[in-house]
Amino acid sequence: MAYVARKIPFVGTVDTNPETKPFFEGAAAGKLMIRRCTSCKKAHWYPRALCPFCFGDCDWEQASGKAKIYTFSVMERANPPYAIGYVTLAEGPSVLTNFVDCDFKALKIGQDVKVAFIQTEGEGPSLPFFTPA
Ligand SMILES: [Zn+2]
Repeated sequence: MAYVARKIPFVGTVDTNPETKPFFEGAAAGKLMIRRCTSCKKAHWYPRALCPFCFGDCDWEQASGKAKIYTFSVMERANPPYAIGYVTLAEGPSVLTNFVDCDFKALKIGQDVKVAFIQTEGEGPSLPFFTPA
């Protein structure tokens, strides 16, 4: 199945929540920004002010962009078809994502993927998605 790019919708605005501003600024600069707890040292996704494991304070860090497919599903009846799923970042958290720029029939659970920044529909922000490494 040849890959056909589709415009991925973005709902919301990038500047309404100061807590996520570094994420959107990073994405605009081609950096996947995640939060890591300063107490228990665990990284988490999606970005939150307090650690979801221990309620400690967190700092931003740039993720490597390396991940493995945890699970995925291909929407073959959509036009054009698309694939979504979870990837597990090298830093630990799992992220819901679209898979882009790849043959969906070749996707495999456990496959290495890397982050790719794609502009979202309607002049929306550039956001991180994943493609085979
Ligand atoms: Zn913590």
